[in-house]
Formats: sequence, structure tokens, C-alpha cells
Amino acid sequence: MAKRTVSKPDWTANPGERPQEKCGVFAVHNYTGPDNAAVVTYHGLLALQHRGQESAGMAFCDQKGMQVIKNMGLVDQVFSRRELDAIIAPSIIGHVRYSTTGSSILANAQPLIARSYNQGGIALAHNGNLTNTRRLYNKLLDEGQIFHTTSDTEIMLTYLFRYRRSGLAAAVNKTMRLIEGAYAAVVMDDHQMVAFRDPNGFRPLAIGRLGQASVFASETAALDTVGADFVREVEPGEIVTAGPEGLNSLKTMPNEPCQSICIFEYVYFARPDSILKNRNVHAVRKMVGSLLARRIPVTALDMVIPSPDSGVSAAMGLAESLNLPLEWAVHRNPYLGRTFIEPTQSEREEAVRLKFNPIRNLVNNKKVVVVDDSLVRGTTSRIITSLLKTCGAAEVHLCIASPPFINPCYYGIDIPVAAELAAMNDNADRLAESIGADSVTFAEPADLYRAVGMDQSKLCTACFSGSYPALNLLTGK
Ligand code: SF4
Repeated sequence: MAKRTVSKPDWTANPGERPQEKCGVFAVHNYTGPDNAAVVTYHGLLALQHRGQESAGMAFCDQKGMQVIKNMGLVDQVFSRRELDAIIAPSIIGHVRYSTTGSSILANAQPLIARSYNQGGIALAHNGNLTNTRRLYNKLLDEGQIFHTTSDTEIMLTYLFRYRRSGLAAAVNKTMRLIEGAYAAVVMDDHQMVAFRDPNGFRPLAIGRLGQASVFASETAALDTVGADFVREVEPGEIVTAGPEGLNSLKTMPNEPCQSICIFEYVYFARPDSILKNRNVHAVRKMVGSLLARRIPVTALDMVIPSPDSGVSAAMGLAESLNLPLEWAVHRNPYLGRTFIEPTQSEREEAVRLKFNPIRNLVNNKKVVVVDDSLVRGTTSRIITSLLKTCGAAEVHLCIASPPFINPCYYGIDIPVAAELAAMNDNADRLAESIGADSVTFAEPADLYRAVGMDQSKLCTACFSGSYPALNLLTGK
């Protein structure tokens, strides 16, 4: 099915709160193993911590009805062992969240729950970003709906709650015909859990088996962590129900869905030990690195240095192909936070400077290649290049294991506005000059398609190509 270019989604017309998020979902259904389900969910969420560090939460149904425990902070800051032991429920939905600064508030932390005093409740955890939020929000407001959050997830929750009387899977099916954009989500009521994924399949969602229990996780690495066996992925457009009778599948699309897996999951976002569409993420990144080796315009180099830690897999592939030593010549202080969420450019630069320190003796008088997975604002590359030169590096060549990032993402990855994207208006030579490097080499899109083993028609590549996938294949809009 052809992809098309679309205008930006309606919610971004609102200059205030913008519900963009990149998150992790972990859920376990009907767990009866040696730990309690809350401890399993806790470990699953820890494994997905890289997908969101602002808040964490778990929802479960006990004798008091649907409950949620959530707070701002990392998973181990939000939950104590005592709290986990007090959760008596075999089925739990968990979530870790990252959002833009403005919407980083407790009300938006997930899972979200909706309850009525006599008809039970539902809980929802969502990874992705809806693109017709404003339209649905205004419609629901006109109908008298009251909102408690500024998150697009609450719009999904509202429809799921309205339609739940015909069954949770039917409610998901109806809701999927209204919402557009990216969603990999799990919803639960007091007897059933339903996982569902948008027809494009932007965000990943894996199914696992842990004894008798079913597990859903944003990445297979979380299944490995809790000792669950990987069963398969929730397919794009699929609704998977976990109930007393086991797993059931409902396909919403009459034909093969037009999958548009986010290529950025392979490039940067997913853990290297995860598997997406049968491809190990580390292997993909390493192969891109080895393909990138053919594009470097210089010879007689001395070493390859990974940009810590995002460039490690690609640097391994590049070093192997060029038969050069791979040196961990830039140390990263792991106790400083992620720098790209710092609010101003100067604060961001200062944070990067504090974070990295080259090993002077290793790089002095050497011609080095620094490998990173992507170039977004260029801050990290600029500072690392400058630090290496200060430590005496004779030449610093930058290799980026993805094509230039030139468009914003509307599907759940928080990327700076276009004006802040380093590669927006510059060719590689001007970019090298502005970064202070001797050269900048990008991977070609074809390198990525080859490494992931899929052609462009099966991937979302909009942040590189500007070709945004169709928004709702169920409605044809
Ligand atoms: Fe991924 Fe880029 Fe598409 Fe967003 S626009 S889903 S980051 S490929």
C-alpha cells in the first residue's frame, strides 16, 4: 500500500501542552508463579526504563476494584518492595513514560484508569502518539466529556470506557476505527486483558509466555529479563485477547496491513538485545556500521571510537570492516542524566561537557573516527569532537549510522523542532565545519533497509525521507 505525505497532526496546532511521548509498556496476565505479578512487572519495567524515565506506574484489579500506583521518577524510585508485596493481583499493566517537559506531570503518568461506581473499571497503558487528538478532543468536549489529563491516551481511554459493555475486544475494535496515529497499547478490565497495535505498527509490542501467564512487552529484552519465552509480535492492526481461555486474535484489517515500523527503533530507541521483526537490533546496527565503512572519504585512520553508548554496535561493525582497533577512548559518566532533555542549548552543552571525558594518551596525535547512531541537534557530536581535539587528536571524522534527520516525528518520538535539527539546512561539508570535525559521513537509507532486511515500503522513514505513512488505514483517512 502506498505511503503519502500528510500535513502535521492536529494536536501540534496547539502551542501549549503537546502530548508527545515515547514510552514502554509491560503487562502480565494471570500470573501464578513464584514471585508475585507486581515483582514480575517491576522487573519488566526496569528492562524498559530506557523508553521512559519521567514516571512509572502499575494498574491492577483487586477486591477494591481497579487500582493504580504511579508516580514521577524512575521505576525503582516509584516502587518499594513493601508496595510490590502488598499488590495482590495476578494481572497487572505497567508503564514507563517520557514526555516533553510541559506535559511531564503526574496526571499524565500511566497507566490511566477509568471507573464507574457500580460497573468496574478499565486501565490503559499506551506507547505512541495519536495524530487526530485535537479533533477527537473537541468532539468529546462538545459531548460534555471532562478530561483529567493533557494526554492523548485519555482520549483512547474515554472511548474504550464508553464502548466496554459490548466486551473489551469489541471496544478496542470500535476505538481503533476512530483514532489515528501510533499506538501499541494494553487495556485491562477485571477479567480480561487486550493488547492492540495500530495498523501501521509504528511501535513494537511483543507477546511472551511465562508458565501459564501471558506477557506483553514493548521489547523482547523485557521478556528475557523476566524469564518469559517470546511467542510472537502483536501484528500491525491486530487485537490480542488474553483471558481464561488463553490468547485469541482478531485481525482488524481485511488485507495485509501496510506496516510502517519506526526505523528509529532499530537506529536508536530499542535496546540492542531486543528483537524486532526477527532482526536483532545490535546486529542491525553493526551491519549499518560495516556498510558505512565503505562511505568514509579518508584512509590511514588510527582507531574507531564509539560515541558512548549509542554508537557502540555500529562502531563495532565499522571497526571490523576497516580492520581498525575499536577503542573506548571517550569515557561517559553514567551518573548524569540524559542530556537532550535539558531545556536550553547552553545548558545542554554544559551537561554534555560534564558527561564525557576522552582518554588523552590514547587519542593524542591520532586520526580517529567517532561513530554515533544518529545526529539530531548535533550537540553531543560537537562537544565530543571539541574534547578530542583539545586532547590532541590530529583528525576527528564523524560517522553517523543513519541518514540526516530532517523532519519531525508525529508518532511518539520526541524530536526537536525542525529549526533545531542539525542536518536541516546543511550539507555534510558545512555540517562538519559547524561541528568542528574533519568530515561527517552519514549512512544511506539503502544501508538501513539492507540491515533491517525490509524495503522502505515496510518502514516509517519520515524523519529522514519526509514521506509520512497514511494515518488511519481502518478509515482510509
Ligand atoms: Fe520513527 Fe522517524 Fe517515523 Fe517517527 S518519523 S515513527 S522517529 S521513523
